[in-house]
Amino acid sequence: METVKSTSNATKKPPMTPKAIIHQRFGDKAIYKVEEVQDLTQNGCPGLAVLQKGPCLYRCTLLLPEIVVVSDSFKRKKDAEQSAAEKAIEKLGIRQKEYKPTILEAWDDLTSRLAFLFANEFLSSLHPLSGHFRAALRREGHFNGCVPVSVIALYDAKIGNICKHVNPAAESNPLLVMSLVLKAAAKQNDMILPFEEQLSLKRRNPYPPDIIQPSTDHGSSLCYGSTIEVLQIPASLYKDVETLKLKIAETGYYLDVIGHELGVNEASNVLISRTIGKASSELRIYSPTPKRQLWDHFSERDVKQSIHLDESLNERASYISGQFVYGDAILASVGYTWKSADLFHEAVALRTYYRILVNKIPNGAYKISREAILAANLPLAFTTRSNWRGSLPRDILCTICRFHHLSEPVFSVQLISSVSSQDLPGCHKKLEVMEADRDEKSEAGLAASCGSGNLVGSTEASSCEVKIYSKKQELILRCSPQEAYRKQTDAIQSASLKVLSWLDIFLEKPDTPVEKLNAVAEKLDIHFSLHYLSKEFASCHSVHKCGITIAQALKRLNYSCSGNVVKDEPAFVAIAGQSSGITPSNGSLASVCYSVSLVTDGDRVKEHLESCEEFEFEVGNEAVLPDLEVAVAQMTVGQSSNVQTELVPCELILAAAEDSAATLSLLSSRSCKLEYNITLLRVTEPLEERMEQALFSPPLSKQRVEFAVRHIKEFSASSLVDFGCGSGSLLDSLLLYPTSLEKIVGVDISQRSLARAAKSLHTKLNSFLGAKDTSSGIKSAVLYDGSITKYDSRLHGFDIATCLEVIEHMEEKDACLFGDVVLSSFCPKFLIVSTPNYEYNVILQGSTPQSQEENPDEKNQSQSCKFRNHDHKFEWTRSQFNHWASDLAARHNYSVAFSGVGGSADTEPGFASQIAIFRRSDDDYDRVAKMEFGHQYVVLWEWNIEDLLPKKE
Ligand code: SAH
Ligand code: MG
Repeated sequence: METVKSTSNATKKPPMTPKAIIHQRFGDKAIYKVEEVQDLTQNGCPGLAVLQKGPCLYRCTLLLPEIVVVSDSFKRKKDAEQSAAEKAIEKLGIRQKEYKPTILEAWDDLTSRLAFLFANEFLSSLHPLSGHFRAALRREGHFNGCVPVSVIALYDAKIGNICKHVNPAAESNPLLVMSLVLKAAAKQNDMILPFEEQLSLKRRNPYPPDIIQPSTDHGSSLCYGSTIEVLQIPASLYKDVETLKLKIAETGYYLDVIGHELGVNEASNVLISRTIGKASSELRIYSPTPKRQLWDHFSERDVKQSIHLDESLNERASYISGQFVYGDAILASVGYTWKSADLFHEAVALRTYYRILVNKIPNGAYKISREAILAANLPLAFTTRSNWRGSLPRDILCTICRFHHLSEPVFSVQLISSVSSQDLPGCHKKLEVMEADRDEKSEAGLAASCGSGNLVGSTEASSCEVKIYSKKQELILRCSPQEAYRKQTDAIQSASLKVLSWLDIFLEKPDTPVEKLNAVAEKLDIHFSLHYLSKEFASCHSVHKCGITIAQALKRLNYSCSGNVVKDEPAFVAIAGQSSGITPSNGSLASVCYSVSLVTDGDRVKEHLESCEEFEFEVGNEAVLPDLEVAVAQMTVGQSSNVQTELVPCELILAAAEDSAATLSLLSSRSCKLEYNITLLRVTEPLEERMEQALFSPPLSKQRVEFAVRHIKEFSASSLVDFGCGSGSLLDSLLLYPTSLEKIVGVDISQRSLARAAKSLHTKLNSFLGAKDTSSGIKSAVLYDGSITKYDSRLHGFDIATCLEVIEHMEEKDACLFGDVVLSSFCPKFLIVSTPNYEYNVILQGSTPQSQEENPDEKNQSQSCKFRNHDHKFEWTRSQFNHWASDLAARHNYSVAFSGVGGSADTEPGFASQIAIFRRSDDDYDRVAKMEFGHQYVVLWEWNIEDLLPKKE
């Protein structure tokens, strides 16, 4: 029985570790030295002359400028380091005391902090604020020496912190901090002159002249100044974001220049946002400060409700800065920093703005993390850590929540332990996985088709629930998948990916009907509150819709409507270069090199957008744009192709474009397409294939084919159906042998694999025909799209049916269902079923050099009990397989014999691939009437020799 114990670990901000505290205080001056020590207490036999090596322990010596401390011994290096840091903290008595002043104390601290900032010494410090103070002193005329309150409120972390203790609301309201600073300054009016209406502060007594360093070293009167490129973000969504150049004279104050541009004349009326993006960036939104009389009014409102009431609200600027921004705004990267006394500045291109937008949506954040905005796609499923590229789902989810001002996601991991699986029938099977039907899933194009964890031989597994709360702790979304994983982190990543996939639809396609949202949510085990979601993401919806002006958006719509893409047909792509025969299959890693351009109809004008020397992704997981995946699936290593696709949303194009002006003019003047040039550089097979090729000669796959050929000959079979034919490796190879076969059929549920099979069968069969090759007597070949658990009367009574390495890719119950359907309804004369022998894995895993590449962490945990392929849902021992096959045969009046390929029956642990050959008892056959159920499969491709040969009259 399964016991379920729940460990809920909500992620809260962890307290600072001892090492972090030491680092904060001493930085590089703290030196840690770790040494190995022998644990003598653990040595078995003290009297023994030979030195016995006990488990290795670590001890850490921490050298600080003032003291040296030595830790106790620990099993892990990092524990030893933390322990040393902890001891040092104790010795130095520097345990950070939490700052918890009373309100009165906080007021005192605020006034004395202001006094400190206006003292002589501060002017020559490297504090970012001192740059503003010096610039203020250079201001001419009336404003000489006036320092904007907004600057004081924003650039001094201490002021911000103190204000929080005066009024907690100050944390999220810069206007409140400003008014507190003004009040505190008023109390100090012997020293500071507060200008209430000007929103600035000035020292009452002038600084001593020797402190104000005139910029003599720069050659006085000659001023170069600098030009900074910024973006203008108009309040109206109908106006585009545009670049703008600002000229700052060397003696000028940059905030005055920005103020002038915003129409407020001078620095103190400029409201500055927090930094956007990385903490180290200086990217901020500048906007006009609301009138003093209105401050209280502004701070009391709830942005999410007022959005549509107030026309001056700048939605785009508010969205990217996470604060209220009113009126036209400027996005700039400029300011004084700790690093230098000079003004820092950096050009902000249109691309920066669009990258910020793109980064706020799950799929976009993934694209940016891969630096492949026009090629990468958030994959459908988390298969393994070693196949994942780019930021991990959990990290993306946390960032998205932060961007949208939600609480940190809460992950609850459930440990599920079961009794030793050896006792259960169908051991080594994954713990019950509640999954929607596979077919339905591929329809949704979303849910993981192979996202289930690999669980085998282990008695412990984890599943993970994710909850997303608003800042006010309203539960807005919950994802509770049933899938169990042997590793906690895999469970967390997989659940995070589900949330991301759903959020992506919700955010990227705001017009998605609720029924569709519900349907997708159900497949992803998600429950959501539309009410809270709409509230939290209101501005996201309107800003992304207006990433570009309405007029341009309409134009874009026209383009995509005119494109008549037929999705059902597997599109054949023009491919250049000799075939090397190495094709990527599902689950393998393909490495490509690509470049993308915007091209006008007729290819007359091209504008380069993005390129990448080497881009690696897992095939079959939609980790790249669908058109690209289709193309890559048809290529072999070394080949190139040229793919034209419809435009992706302009937001993405502009986030990638280097020259946004050229790109914009192309986009708005003509109808364009994207053109991709791709070369397939390399294919890394999944572990299973690599092992099979490295360890067996001929490779196991070839041995399976030869096994089938022997039986075809032995039975003089003329018709064959390959259930789960994949990319057609068996059908393809059968053509190379002279056999009695006339009709061959393949069935699979993967359209992509079938398309590959079609392509290669088509080429081979036609070339035989051209060469009048008589070795193959094949008259017809058909590929069907369908699930082999369903019956289709067109495939009744074939001579031979094969099902090689397929059943382990289905849930165990479906594998059993398949067995029953084949023997009871399809009734082939012979059925050959192969599946991995689980017991053989020890040998495979013990000798693959490649497995070293895998994440070492993963390797340790999987030890010798991992499945051969992450898509395998189970792997059977010999006795399990025998049990299943004998029971099945008995029920349907077939006999069964066992065999295999790789290894041998007589040596432990048996064959690598175990095979059962079922033979129909023909005396019984006549009783079984052919059932006419109609046709459950869809013909995907068909080849008939009659259609091709000249008709005999
Ligand atoms: N027989 C091939 C492919 C094996 S891979 C070979 O030996 O090379 C397993 C294949 O089974 C995949 O192509 C997968 O799409 C297919 N498959 C899994 N479940 C299926 C189902 N229910 N119906 C049809 N095909 C299925
Ligand atoms: Mg397999």
